[in-house]
Amino acid sequence: MRYLVTGAAGFLGYHLSARLLRDGHQVVGMDNFHSGTEANIQALAAHAGFRFVQHDVTVPYDHAVDVVCNLACPASPPHYQKDPIYTAKIAFLGTLHALENAERHQAKLLQASTSEIYGDPLVHPQPEGYLGNVNSVGPRACYDEGKRLAETICADFQRLGRVDARLVRIFNTYGPNMRLDDGRVVTNFLLQALRGEALTVYGDGSQTRSFCYVDDLIEGFVRVLAAPTNLGPVNLGNPQEFTMLELAQAVQAEVGMVTPIQYRPLPVDDPKQRCPDIAKARTHLQWQPAVELAEGLRRTTAYLRPLSQR
Ligand code: UDP
Repeated sequence: MRYLVTGAAGFLGYHLSARLLRDGHQVVGMDNFHSGTEANIQALAAHAGFRFVQHDVTVPYDHAVDVVCNLACPASPPHYQKDPIYTAKIAFLGTLHALENAERHQAKLLQASTSEIYGDPLVHPQPEGYLGNVNSVGPRACYDEGKRLAETICADFQRLGRVDARLVRIFNTYGPNMRLDDGRVVTNFLLQALRGEALTVYGDGSQTRSFCYVDDLIEGFVRVLAAPTNLGPVNLGNPQEFTMLELAQAVQAEVGMVTPIQYRPLPVDDPKQRCPDIAKARTHLQWQPAVELAEGLRRTTAYLRPLSQR
């Protein structure tokens, strides 16, 4: 089949494209390098079935494909907050253009949504039916509210019978091919430990996240697309929850380097806890993560170690 992957130079776009190419599909990868890297595109270009299109998704486009996977959007808080208006435009216009392209070619659509649509959740763990607790005027709102609006237009295209738009709500994911300056906690801690630097813990480190290894997440994408019917929003993430201090210990154990903890202020609107309820994916897709945190950290460290000293 022919796939269009927007955000192909990004972390998840790279891994999804690589998986689709391995499965024998044709992939058009779209990116404008706003937050993705050329190295990811160069790696994908080694496959005969891959074609790269440099394009900004806030501008309409037309590509004849069978499936559109809309992954283009900066996702790390420091990156998406750098240009918040552009982030909101990518979330809304980027999704609108993906839907319009899908409709024009009767293609199915996969929309990369996010656990951020739950905001700082008051229900724990978060099932898909939880409606969220988002600050619409906070510094994270460009992304959180942008992604909520993206879900809204996907649901409307779906309701109107215009596009089979499938929503995956992605919880914290990590693995090789993330940017070194991604700014998120797993890459920060691993690089700090590898460089013998203090680990920067924001707040008191008691906030929780659950970390999904990227290969598990991509398997979830493939199953959501292959499902005979549209299941509505599907949480994809690892339900094993860790505090940031526990993560710091796991990173130190993996790298074999115990460096001090340096406490920094907690960013504004930083969710206190986050953990997916994945009953829906388990029941309907027989999907659950297979890679434990220690194993995922081992694989990510193997990728980062040679790059960490440059
Ligand atoms: N965090 C941290 N140190 C860092 C980077 C992040 O303690 O160097 C914390 C951050 O405050 C949040 C958690 O780790 O509570 C996950 O942050 P990340 O930016 O990875 O993703 P988020 O889930 O906030 O989108």
